[in-house]
Amino acid sequence: MQDDDKLSPDLVWQPDGHLTDIALTALGDGEEAILPAGAAAHVARCLTCSSALGRTALLSLRAGEMLRARAASSGASEPAAPRAPLPVPAIAFA
Ligand SMILES: [Zn+2]
Repeated sequence: MQDDDKLSPDLVWQPDGHLTDIALTALGDGEEAILPAGAAAHVARCLTCSSALGRTALLSLRAGEMLRARAASSGASEPAAPRAPLPVPAIAFA
């Protein structure tokens, strides 16, 4: 087993034995492959961590929605122009 692609234990476990926000975020994002064995099992039986995971997943979901909405609204215009200096269609009809 190679652990190079896993988070180091001090990034995963808090001193009190629960998972860190980093580990919970990784779990919420479905990246449990980078977590050491036992992290997902701990969340499954720990009420503190599972409720924290629920909050983290919700935040992650909202952040994802915000980013998608932002990408959709900015992607509608030309990529080279962050904002249109003049309302060109309005001028064309005037
Ligand atoms: Zn816990």
